[in-house]
Amino acid sequence: MNQILLTADRLFDGTGAATIHRPVVRVADGKIDSVQTSLMQPATCTGERVDFPGCTILPGFIDTHVHLVMGALDTSAAIIEQIGRDSEAQLLARIEDNARKALRVGLTTVRDCGGTKNHVQQIRDRIARGEIAGPDILACGSPITTTLGHCHWLGLVADSFEEVEHAAHRMLAEDVDFLKVMATGGNMTPTSDPMKAQYDARTLKRIADIGRGANKHSAAHVLSQAALLSAIAANYRTIEHCDWRVEEWRYQFDPELARKMIDQNQFAGLTMSGFARRAFNPNLVALNLPPIQRMDARFASERQMIEFGVRYTLHTDAGVTLCPIEQFALGMRAAEVELKLTPSEVLRACTSSAAEAICLPDRGMVQAGKRADLVVVEGDPTRDLQALEKVCAVMKAGVWYHRSPV
Ligand SMILES: [Zn+2]
Repeated sequence: MNQILLTADRLFDGTGAATIHRPVVRVADGKIDSVQTSLMQPATCTGERVDFPGCTILPGFIDTHVHLVMGALDTSAAIIEQIGRDSEAQLLARIEDNARKALRVGLTTVRDCGGTKNHVQQIRDRIARGEIAGPDILACGSPITTTLGHCHWLGLVADSFEEVEHAAHRMLAEDVDFLKVMATGGNMTPTSDPMKAQYDARTLKRIADIGRGANKHSAAHVLSQAALLSAIAANYRTIEHCDWRVEEWRYQFDPELARKMIDQNQFAGLTMSGFARRAFNPNLVALNLPPIQRMDARFASERQMIEFGVRYTLHTDAGVTLCPIEQFALGMRAAEVELKLTPSEVLRACTSSAAEAICLPDRGMVQAGKRADLVVVEGDPTRDLQALEKVCAVMKAGVWYHRSPV
């Protein structure tokens, strides 16, 4: 049995129930074999032992909403133009590059919420075969959207009930891991309107039902209450963005809708991209733009939702404007500030809660029997999330992908 022993100053197990001091994590055959607090007899360990003094062991991070094909350029127009212009080889190269960068910052699993054709699936499969380095990827292919609707430029347009059915089945045939729909318009696509629903309730439910029929979960992009009720009624596993917006500048948390989300164990995917990172971008704040001011109302409604007890994950939407995937830590730090979360709450949202949200029970925790997806960071992220920017080791399924001397 190929064994690896890891020791560090402390361990965050993914739940935050307790910080374990001086942990000894034993990995065998790609899985976590045991988590103890003292070294076992040397004779019981035949493999390698790696010590990380001053460091913390955590479960591999999970970003539940990224776009590997997008280039994180300065404007949405530039991103859309780049995708339209790039050759197939260039699109694949960017997905591969972003995947490699993701693993380097500790992301051992990402859920890709929208790409071109079956390109993300191709890279997902190459990573799974061990041909290239990257996190495990869950892919939706392209998101289902309307003519000129949000992300129509990714190529999966469906307007009528029948067209939508066809699009969902087509994605399943292209071997996706989940289905994604744009239930409202989005900020990136000027021809769409975030305040308007793109589909009626029946059509929206049909997509989630087709997913369930194939044993796949589904995700709905929702930027206003115009589609929140129908996305909750359709029981989408995750409501991406989950904006409680009722008018352009007004957000209103609705406890009745939130109660239904809790009853159905749905997750809100809260987005920490672009303007949501204002706390770390003084230049942005100085501009005093309306979208930055609007953030106060958005975060207040999300804070109410969290206090009410709705489950949530924190994602970066990496690939959109000014949101490169290697800045994952910055998104998590912004969540701490803006949503008034403790560091442990942030860490739970991007580990155990994220795994549960996207239906991967084998990971998200450092616990015997789970997959050995581990990140080691310098310092104590349960006190200061800035430690997430100092990743010294990443292991996926028991294999080291990065290890720097401490
Ligand atoms: Zn997105």
